[in-house]
Amino acid sequence: MKKRKVKVKSFIILGVVIILLIGGIILLTKITQNKKEDAQSSPNQEEIEKEQPQSSPSQEEEEHQGSPNEEETNKEPKETPPVSKYTDEKQEKLAKLDNIQNELDYFKMDYLDRYIAYSEKNPTLSKKDVVIRVNIGLDQEYYTNTKQSPYLNQNYILSNKYTSLGEYVPENLEEVSASCSSGTRLLVHEARVAFENMCNKAKSDGYTIQVMSAYRSYQYQVGLYQRYVDRDGVKEADTYSARPGFSEHQTGLVADIDNGSIAYTSFHKAKEYSWMKENAYKYGFIERYPEGKENITGYTYESWHYRYVGVDIATYIHEHNITFDEYYVQFIEGKK
Ligand SMILES: [Zn+2]
Repeated sequence: MKKRKVKVKSFIILGVVIILLIGGIILLTKITQNKKEDAQSSPNQEEIEKEQPQSSPSQEEEEHQGSPNEEETNKEPKETPPVSKYTDEKQEKLAKLDNIQNELDYFKMDYLDRYIAYSEKNPTLSKKDVVIRVNIGLDQEYYTNTKQSPYLNQNYILSNKYTSLGEYVPENLEEVSASCSSGTRLLVHEARVAFENMCNKAKSDGYTIQVMSAYRSYQYQVGLYQRYVDRDGVKEADTYSARPGFSEHQTGLVADIDNGSIAYTSFHKAKEYSWMKENAYKYGFIERYPEGKENITGYTYESWHYRYVGVDIATYIHEHNITFDEYYVQFIEGKK
């Protein structure tokens, strides 16, 4: 019995040892697996870490790239100031005009020689005025290098001795009310409404303003101009009458006015003229050929000739005492 007990005991011990052994083996394999996994994952981390150092240098590079560029751009004007798009000859010419091309967005490089020539002929003119006048065309004879007027059917349509309307006929011509005109006179809708408002306000202030000539067609001007030429010759006729296609009356935005009692050519003597000086711009009208501006407008002083341009433009022209020709080359040409 004792032997058997011993046998059983040792059997149990053997079993425990085997279990322990198996357990140990399992534990070991688990540990090695874990270690392997760790070993597999750590290289990944290393890779990530490697990538990170790779990315940080690139950030640095970016920073480095950024700062040298900035330095370069900062340096550029210092290092290469005269490496401009202009030749030395052009530089010299621009200097003669006080390099005003940087200030005026309507400066035309193509006109550089004309600006210089005009500036030398008119040394008292400011460089800005030189540019404006050459842009109008005033350095050249009237009716030379004429252009077709763009922006038809607009309040800012241009008509002068360098700009032809051709055989243009405006849209929306309407008859001015009988209480504000003598005879049948046509104006473009907006100008017609504005004129009647102005005429009615003048009336309530005690003044009489009426249209005595408004829209004139191309064909009408052909006959009118020819009669003047027959009477006075081309040179003389050109000082007071427009050639066909060049009359501002063809825009349908012009009213020649009188006060119903004295001749329109003496309108500057009428009290209505003073009223117009103070109030016309409020209704969008300007005195188109003022006294003292004959060399800009190309027309003798006409106290009776009013052009509708709209309230904004009229107000600017009134406040700055300029002509529509000067306004046009600065603010309309090439921009609208
Ligand atoms: Zn007129």
